[in-house]
Amino acid sequence: MDSPPIPDLAIVNCTALVGSTAGRAEFAPGTTLEITGGAISAVHTHPVDAPQAREVIDARGMVAMPGLINTHCHAAMTLLRGAAEDVAVGAWFNDYIWPMEVNVGERDVYTGTTLAAAEMIQAGVTTFADHYFFMDQAARAVVDSGLRANLGSAFFSSQGADGLGASIDFATRWSGAAGGRITTSIAPHAPYTVDDDDLAAAADAARALGVRVHIHASEDIAQAEKSIAARGISPIEVLRRTGVLDAGCIIAHGNGIVPDDIPLLGAVRDRVGVTHGPKGYLKFALGPITPIMDLLAAGVPVGYCTDGAASNNTMDIFESMRITAILQKQLAGDATWFRSSAALHMAGPESAAVLGMRGQIGELRVGACADVILVDTSGFHCQPVHDLGATLVYSIQTSDVQTTIVDGKVLMRDRRLLTIDGDALRSELRDRAREITDRSHGRTIQDYAP
Ligand SMILES: [Zn+2]
Repeated sequence: MDSPPIPDLAIVNCTALVGSTAGRAEFAPGTTLEITGGAISAVHTHPVDAPQAREVIDARGMVAMPGLINTHCHAAMTLLRGAAEDVAVGAWFNDYIWPMEVNVGERDVYTGTTLAAAEMIQAGVTTFADHYFFMDQAARAVVDSGLRANLGSAFFSSQGADGLGASIDFATRWSGAAGGRITTSIAPHAPYTVDDDDLAAAADAARALGVRVHIHASEDIAQAEKSIAARGISPIEVLRRTGVLDAGCIIAHGNGIVPDDIPLLGAVRDRVGVTHGPKGYLKFALGPITPIMDLLAAGVPVGYCTDGAASNNTMDIFESMRITAILQKQLAGDATWFRSSAALHMAGPESAAVLGMRGQIGELRVGACADVILVDTSGFHCQPVHDLGATLVYSIQTSDVQTTIVDGKVLMRDRRLLTIDGDALRSELRDRAREITDRSHGRTIQDYAP
């Protein structure tokens, strides 16, 4: 009989987050995780003999968690971090971001995505869904950084047929690339910037390719009300009529999802998810907030996101989780709603489901992708640990993430990045940051008029 292959990596002596439901997070002390060929090949929650692995990481005192998932961002917008602060959303787009993005070239997207990747690796994020332009450069940054990503080339109907065509072309060429670390989406910007014909074509393309549509929709209640006043239907109903919901989609934000939308989304809950990044909504003073309680009750997955760092300032999913948890309690007027177990469940299987990757990422289980982070809870801000779930939701800092592993490969060890040259990155940013925020050219890429 053949003996099983020797694991590439074993993580020993960790406390592993081995299961979560909305009601319970299950931690197993003294766990050994084995990784073979990019997948988790064994989870021993009981003491085992020292494993014969090519590499062994002793994770005593660490919590092993599934790597975090950022379900919606514009990674290269790290370049614009802090460049448009204390303004309303309309001015943010029209007076700052879209004029600044005129300056963003292909090399900048590689640099900005690499900056985001460095930050995410250090913050324990192992998968991100990206929605931007010059996406070949973003894909290169994913290849080089070692992260896992779902990438979509964003387009507006104002670009004519080229935008849609490029989005389909990109999704076709990069699907399954980087040894399967890259998956793709078709990425229309939003129902107010992309017309119904293009949305229907995007849905058809997504169906043909077996990928999702990744789109901003009902971002706030003003967008929903404007659509209802102008067309008699909500943006979510627009997505239903154009076939986008049926094809499967990642819906960014959804703060303006109205009660009539919930059954529409519930009917496609196996292939539709909503991404939630509350820090930006609070900064923009948007209200109401995504109806997470209603969506979860209808079985619709909801995942955490950061959106771009130009609005969120960080790519920190621990922060998105923490703000979501406290905001959910406040909105519900119920301190017993959205327990730390629910917050962690959303970080894992729920966020994975938003990307159509339930069972593949977001869980430490045999057969899942070996995307694992090791988090140190010995910091004074975590001690003593009476409730480990609460520690991870309410106390932990991204600087507590010690090791980040994606596809079985160590991308950060003891806080040291192994795939990104941080000094080279900083010096490139120094040279380019001011040029990117120059608005003296007086041009823009699009008008914000939802
Ligand atoms: Zn966005």
